[in-house]
This record gives sequence, structure tokens and C-alpha cells, in this order.
Amino acid sequence: MTNRTIGIVGGGIIGLAVGREVARRFPDDQVVVFEKEDRLGAHQTGHNSGVVHAGIYYAPGSLKAQLCTRGRHLLEEYCAERSLPYERCGKLVVAVDDAERARFDALERTARENGVPGLRRLDGSGIADVEPYAAGVVALHSPHTGITDYVAIARALGEDVEKAGGTVHLSTPVTALRARAGRLVVSTAQTGAAGGHPYEVDRLVLCAGLESDRVARLAGGDQAPRIVPFRGEYMSVVAAKQDLVRGMIYPVPDPRYPFLGVHFTRRVGGGLEVGPNAFLALSRQRYGRGSFSVRDVADTLGWPGFWRFAGAHWRTGLDEIRGVLSTRAYMRSAQRYVPAIGPADVTRAGLGLRAQAVGRDGSLVDDFVIEQRDGVTAIRNAPSPAATSSLAIAEHVVDRMGLDAPRR
Ligand SMILES: Cc1cc2nc3c(=O)[nH]c(=O)nc-3n(C[C@H](O)[C@H](O)[C@H](O)COP(=O)(O)OP(=O)(O)OC[C@H]3O[C@@H](n4cnc5c(N)ncnc54)[C@H](O)[C@@H]3O)c2cc1C
Repeated sequence: MTNRTIGIVGGGIIGLAVGREVARRFPDDQVVVFEKEDRLGAHQTGHNSGVVHAGIYYAPGSLKAQLCTRGRHLLEEYCAERSLPYERCGKLVVAVDDAERARFDALERTARENGVPGLRRLDGSGIADVEPYAAGVVALHSPHTGITDYVAIARALGEDVEKAGGTVHLSTPVTALRARAGRLVVSTAQTGAAGGHPYEVDRLVLCAGLESDRVARLAGGDQAPRIVPFRGEYMSVVAAKQDLVRGMIYPVPDPRYPFLGVHFTRRVGGGLEVGPNAFLALSRQRYGRGSFSVRDVADTLGWPGFWRFAGAHWRTGLDEIRGVLSTRAYMRSAQRYVPAIGPADVTRAGLGLRAQAVGRDGSLVDDFVIEQRDGVTAIRNAPSPAATSSLAIAEHVVDRMGLDAPRR
């Protein structure tokens, strides 16, 4: 009997949660995490809204619905145990006019089927009791929706992996994967240079976020789905107006898209943000306003699914571009929810890049996608609420890795 080595590609919240889960359940196994950046949580984990979702939106029975509910519980417990920031500030999902009522009613049915705790339907005066400055005809109030700091959580998970005897290699991009004699050989950018050897592992879990399609292909995975990056820009509300929102205020989302729409969100570190919008990014992992990567753009344009998606949704794309170019246009939609916060009350803040899987047929893949074959588990689509769900995704993945089977 030998101890196994479990390799994990990606030091975002999912890779680290999986690493911790393996270390907890199989203390004799050795966990090795490979992260290409010089710090943990450098991409989606460190550029999101920080919201801990309560499961309002997701198709009942889907992985998102199941793992978000379980994930929120686990995350609350974990934050309490590790003294990490966590605040249940609650959120309102607001319909601003009667035209939105049908979508709103459908959303309420979904939320109730998902068992969102404490959910209440509020009319105009009920809305004012929760959020005095919000406008709207009807709203759902989810008091259990919270906020946290996902980078702090990722770091804590990394510490847990190391305390359990695992290793986290930073600045170590995985460049090639191959099978050899029943094991998996992991080459990194350091392999071959100055005596750097490839690593050999027994199982691999690929949690590469914006690179998940490319890393899956290194392991022989299918071309589909392809990651198409979507930028999401935030605005920061000036100090004088920050108290106008107590928790979070969201629109009723457009069911054609997996994005939730520009919303008002409090941050655990203080401050109030508006965002994120959603439009096509020209780079997967660069955050400058004009960032462009020839390889990333070529990968997007070379994917037939992208053209099918673009052909069907170009009008929405034009609307989004207006908001990118002008703060006034950006705030026009946000001001429908909180009229007292206008373009003069915000400054441009950070942005995030979403890894959105797009099928060959142009569909934006909605649910989490987790593939398994030949000792490799590949997370191929883990958009929001994957940070909320991370600890539950880790349980789900580790349950299915077959690690309980007798060792060789
Ligand atoms: C704008 C925005 C807002 C969001 N808001 C929320 C929210 O409020 N609540 C919520 O639950 N979710 C939210 N999400 C989604 C959430 O952030 C992600 O689902 C989650 O962070 C995914 O984690 P991950 O570990 O899969 O990806 P990542 O955090 O992107 O981590 C992947 C890691 O893999 C590394 N990597 C890639 N390729 C290689 C390689 N070849 N070798 C080694 N390492 C590699 C990357 O450097 C990266 O660190 C949001 C996302 C965005 C972008």
C-alpha cells in the first residue's frame, strides 16, 4: 500500500477547497497545488462581488441549486471557525415596473422551490422598510444572503492544505499533462530548467477558472465547452451616499443570460459598489481597461459557438458597450433601483473577468460542469455562485474521485 499524491491545478477558491477536502478526508494522501500566479485567488476569486448567495436563481435540482445551498451553510461555518469576515446583510431583488412582474413571479417560484430561507415578498411599503431609498413595485427579500472576502477564505484554505502536510506551489504554471504507467505526469514552466523535474501524481483535479478549457485539453479533454471571458466593471459609490443602501439591491435578471444584472453590493471591508456589467473581454487575465491578448481573442473568434451567441445577442452587446463607454449610461440602469445615486455619485472601480463556458451551439452553459475520466477531474464551468458553493463543490468532487477504493 502506498500513499497517493493528488495534484490540483489552480489556486483559486475551488482548487484550494478541493485540496482541503482531500487533506481532511484522506490525511495519508499528499496534496500538491499548482498555481501559476505569485499569490492565491489572483483571478475570479479575487475579482468578484463577494456575495454569498442563498440560492434564489438556480434551476431547481441543478448542481448550482444543490451546491449553492449546501455551500452557503459550509461557508458560514468555515468563516465562523476561522474568524473570517462574514456579514448576513440580506438582499432585495426588485421589480421596478409591472412589465417585470411575470419574470419576478417565475423567479419567486424558483426561489421557493430551492428552499431559500426566510424569503419574503414585499410591496412598495415593505421595500421601503428594508431599503428606504430603493424604488420598486414588488421585491423578494432574502435575509440570509451575505457578503464575505473570498481571497481571505482562499488563503485560509491554502493554510489548511499546508498544515495538513500538503504543498502549494505559487508561480508554477502547469504546461503539459500526460499519463505514464498508471500515474499522471505534470510538467510546469520550471520543468527542464535548472534541473526542475516533472511531478508525478495519482489523481488530478483541474480547477483552472479562465484557463479551464485549455488545461482540460492538456489532459485530452474535449474542445467543448470553450471559455469565453466576460468583463464585469464596478463603480464605487462616494462616501456621502454609501449609507443609502443597507444590504444589497438586485434587479430581476434577464433569464436569457446567466449574469444577474448590475446590482448594489456592500463590501465587507466597507464601501458600496455598483456592478458588474457584462460584455465580451479581449483578454482572459489582464485587467487594464484596454487589455488585449491576441491568443485569447483568436480563441474566442475561432469558436463557432461564439458566432452563434453573438449573432443572437448583438443588440444586448451594443447596450452593454454604451455602459462601458459612459458612466451616465452605466448608471441609467442602476438608478432605476436607487434613484438617489446618480452618475456624479460614483467613480470607476475594479473589474472582474468571468470564465463563461460557451457550447458549440452558442449556448451560455448555465450549470456547473464537472467531467471525470482516467483519474482526471476537470471543472469546466464554475461561474457564480461557485465561490459561494466552493466547499460543497469540493465535497461533490471528492465524493466522486473514487478515493475510498483500496490503494494499490
Ligand atoms: C465579476 C465577477 C463577480 C462574481 N461574483 C460572485 C459572487 O458574488 N458570489 C459568488 O459566489 N461567485 C461570484 N463570482 C464567481 C466566482 O468568483 C467564481 O465562480 C469562483 O471564483 C471560481 O473559482 P475558481 O477557483 O474556479 O477560479 P479562479 O479564482 O479564477 O482560479 C483559477 C486559478 O487557476 C489558475 N490557473 C489557470 N491556469 C493554470 C495553469 N496552467 N497552471 C497553474 N494554475 C493555473 C489561475 O491563475 C487561477 O488562480 C463572480 C465572478 C466574477 C468574475
